[in-house]
Amino acid sequence: MEKRIINTEFTREDAGVENHLRPRTLDEYVGQEKAKDMLRVYIEAAKSRGEALDHVLFYGPPGLGKTTLAGILACEMGSELRITAGPAIEKPGEMAAILNNLNDGDVLFVDEIHRLNRQVEEVLYPAMEDYAIDIVIGKGASARSIRLDLPHFTLVGATTRAGLLTAPLRDRFGMVYHLEFYTEEELRAIVLRSAGVLGVQITEEGAAQIASRSRGTPRLANRFLKRVRDFAQVRRGGVVTGQVAAEALDLLGVDPVGLDDTDRRVLLTMIEKFGGGPVGLETLAAALSEDVGTLEDVCEPYLLKSGFLNRTPRGRMATERAYRHLGLPFSSNSGGE
Ligand code: ADP
Repeated sequence: MEKRIINTEFTREDAGVENHLRPRTLDEYVGQEKAKDMLRVYIEAAKSRGEALDHVLFYGPPGLGKTTLAGILACEMGSELRITAGPAIEKPGEMAAILNNLNDGDVLFVDEIHRLNRQVEEVLYPAMEDYAIDIVIGKGASARSIRLDLPHFTLVGATTRAGLLTAPLRDRFGMVYHLEFYTEEELRAIVLRSAGVLGVQITEEGAAQIASRSRGTPRLANRFLKRVRDFAQVRRGGVVTGQVAAEALDLLGVDPVGLDDTDRRVLLTMIEKFGGGPVGLETLAAALSEDVGTLEDVCEPYLLKSGFLNRTPRGRMATERAYRHLGLPFSSNSGGE
């Protein structure tokens, strides 16, 4: 499958700029007000007791600011951030070594925490609960287990869906937050902030154009800003106006509501081949020659959120909005709502 500009996963293209654009404090972090309010209280309380912050789980689609929040927690607590990811740790001993090398108060960020294997995950249970690990020494009848104390650290886990976590792991997080897609207004604020950091000249309309096409996702807003800046520089004298942003994003195949060719193909296939649905995700994926995971993690959340798709017990259905967006006639027996 060709690489999609609207793919919300971290890509090499984001690498240099992302760290640069990351807010360092809760005040700089735009949106997610509920999570921020709660975190402020927890940080304040932990600080006044001189304890490590309780373990936190963030779940929600990629690019909404989970890694950024982990960095902010470390920063606000005045401690270090260590970053790793579920698939990167293969053996229990590796996890034990990482934990053992932390200092009191440090934040360990584990991305894609649902992908830890079972044995590695089991190391985390006593580590999270009692700040200890159990190590087995010797073999057979003479084997015995000794307990090693660990520094008082904070585990910040991130996952795309909380349902993917095992119950024992989920239960060991003191706080669980669902990160929401951002509103256009919040994305506009993020684009303006990033433009300031990068020294891009941009108008309010320019920021609004980028915001409305960013699928509720800051990572995309920043990525689009970079692409639009390049276009503005090379073709349009440098300033990102509404017109320039719209032209650049049209060229990238991202339409005014943030859908790309694959999204439109998904909706069109549902309508033309399956009468608007209901159709199962796997059937749809097969008809499109797409991967089910991509449909489920990248296309579907945004199509659902923006009202182009409904999920019913019998499968997915295209909504009236989808018909209208594609310029197709909708009648109440078109499947739809
Ligand atoms: P995730 O870990 O959820 O995939 P990241 O934390 O890596 O997402 O965020 C992706 C990019 O979006 C980063 O460059 C970050 O600067 C930006 N970003 C995310 N959330 C916010 C926010 N609330 N305010 C400003 N920028 C944000």
